[in-house]
Amino acid sequence: MNCWHCERPAHGVCVFCGRAVCKEHARELPHIVALYQNQKGEPKAIVTARALFCGLCEPRGDPVEMPELT
Ligand SMILES: [Zn+2]
Ligand SMILES: [Zn+2]
Repeated sequence: MNCWHCERPAHGVCVFCGRAVCKEHARELPHIVALYQNQKGEPKAIVTARALFCGLCEPRGDPVEMPELT
Protein backbone atom coordinates (compact mmCIF):
# COMPACT_ATOMS: atom_id res chain seq x y z
CA MET A 1 0.00 0.00 0.00
CA ASN A 2 1.25 3.50 -0.81
CA CYS A 3 0.93 6.80 1.05
CA TRP A 4 -2.36 8.60 0.45
CA HIS A 5 -0.48 11.90 0.02
CA CYS A 6 2.65 11.15 -2.00
CA GLU A 7 2.28 7.62 -3.53
CA ARG A 8 5.48 6.37 -1.88
CA PRO A 9 5.44 3.16 0.21
CA ALA A 10 3.42 3.70 3.41
CA HIS A 11 4.70 3.04 6.94
CA GLY A 12 1.33 2.76 8.65
CA VAL A 13 -2.40 3.19 8.48
CA CYS A 14 -4.58 5.93 10.00
CA VAL A 15 -6.50 4.47 12.96
CA PHE A 16 -9.48 6.69 12.21
CA CYS A 17 -10.16 6.10 8.50
CA GLY A 18 -7.73 3.41 7.28
CA ARG A 19 -5.79 5.56 4.79
CA ALA A 20 -2.13 4.53 4.47
CA VAL A 21 0.51 7.17 5.14
CA CYS A 22 4.33 7.38 5.07
CA LYS A 23 6.39 8.68 8.02
CA GLU A 24 6.70 12.08 6.39
CA HIS A 25 2.95 12.61 6.10
CA ALA A 26 1.78 10.81 9.25
CA ARG A 27 0.32 12.94 12.06
CA GLU A 28 -0.41 11.96 15.65
CA LEU A 29 -3.66 12.41 17.56
CA PRO A 30 -5.07 11.02 20.82
CA HIS A 31 -7.29 8.03 20.08
CA ILE A 32 -9.86 6.45 22.43
CA VAL A 33 -9.19 2.71 22.34
CA ALA A 34 -11.94 1.60 24.71
CA LEU A 35 -14.66 2.95 26.98
CA TYR A 36 -15.72 1.17 30.15
CA GLN A 37 -17.26 1.76 33.58
CA ASN A 38 -15.21 1.25 36.72
CA GLN A 39 -16.53 -0.43 39.88
CA LYS A 40 -18.22 2.83 40.98
CA GLY A 41 -20.06 3.04 37.66
CA GLU A 42 -17.99 6.00 36.45
CA PRO A 43 -17.27 6.06 32.72
CA LYS A 44 -13.56 5.75 31.91
CA ALA A 45 -11.68 5.84 28.63
CA ILE A 46 -8.42 4.15 27.63
CA VAL A 47 -6.64 6.62 25.34
CA THR A 48 -3.49 6.30 23.29
CA ALA A 49 -1.89 9.74 23.17
CA ARG A 50 -0.09 9.39 19.84
CA ALA A 51 -2.16 7.28 17.46
CA LEU A 52 -1.35 7.43 13.76
CA PHE A 53 -3.50 9.98 11.93
CA CYS A 54 -3.55 10.68 8.19
CA GLY A 55 -4.10 14.45 8.56
CA LEU A 56 -7.21 14.39 6.36
CA CYS A 57 -10.17 12.69 7.95
CA GLU A 58 -10.98 15.12 10.81
CA PRO A 59 -12.08 12.69 13.54
CA ARG A 60 -14.64 14.30 15.89
CA GLY A 61 -14.27 14.43 19.66
CA ASP A 62 -17.94 13.60 20.22
CA PRO A 63 -20.13 10.86 18.74
CA VAL A 64 -21.79 12.03 15.55
CA GLU A 65 -25.52 11.61 15.09
CA MET A 66 -26.47 9.65 11.99
CA PRO A 67 -30.20 10.23 11.42
CA GLU A 68 -29.97 8.82 7.89
CA LEU A 69 -29.48 5.33 9.38
CA THR A 70 -32.71 5.31 11.33
ZN1 LIG B 1 3.65 10.47 2.10
ZN1 LIG C 1 -7.53 9.29 8.57
